[in-house]
Amino acid sequence: MAAPESGKHWADNARCSGQDPELFIPLSDGPREDPDEVRQLQGIALNRPLNFCASCPLAVAAQCLVESLRLDDEYGIRAGLLASERSALRDSWKHRIDAEAVSAVLRGVPVVLNEAERGEVISRFAADPALNADHVAWGLGIPRKYLWQLVREHNQSSALAPSTAIASGADAG
Ligand code: SF4
Repeated sequence: MAAPESGKHWADNARCSGQDPELFIPLSDGPREDPDEVRQLQGIALNRPLNFCASCPLAVAAQCLVESLRLDDEYGIRAGLLASERSALRDSWKHRIDAEAVSAVLRGVPVVLNEAERGEVISRFAADPALNADHVAWGLGIPRKYLWQLVREHNQSSALAPSTAIASGADAG
């Protein structure tokens, strides 16, 4: 995938930039619908949004799809796929852990993660006192205080022994 020009977000080059977002959320389309029925019902009304996607730069469309899967977007057309067509993909991505994305966030690089990846970041941070809280909070895009709260919740749910759990309360703030 081509790297975005420096200082630019991938969505800046999106073909749909500036268009009404409603155009990309067809009526009757949703995660539990039958895509064939949606296409039949919507007919040519789908042409306009799908044409935008078809002419979108490939790197942008790929990023659009990946981000929608990471964010678990249930509705709307992404990369030319209806919400109903992305259901199976969404389900499989929910449990996928991209080790590179997790380690980038642990180093303080902001990356959009799915729920499983966020859980992995918290779990690794909770187990490794050498990791930098400011970096991890920045990578996750959350306040440091909230990071510590997540660590406490993780430690409680994992029932970690006090000797192995990070001193999550002591450094909160
Ligand atoms: S693939 Fe479609 S929805 Fe995604 S950015 Fe491009 S035009 Fe927009």
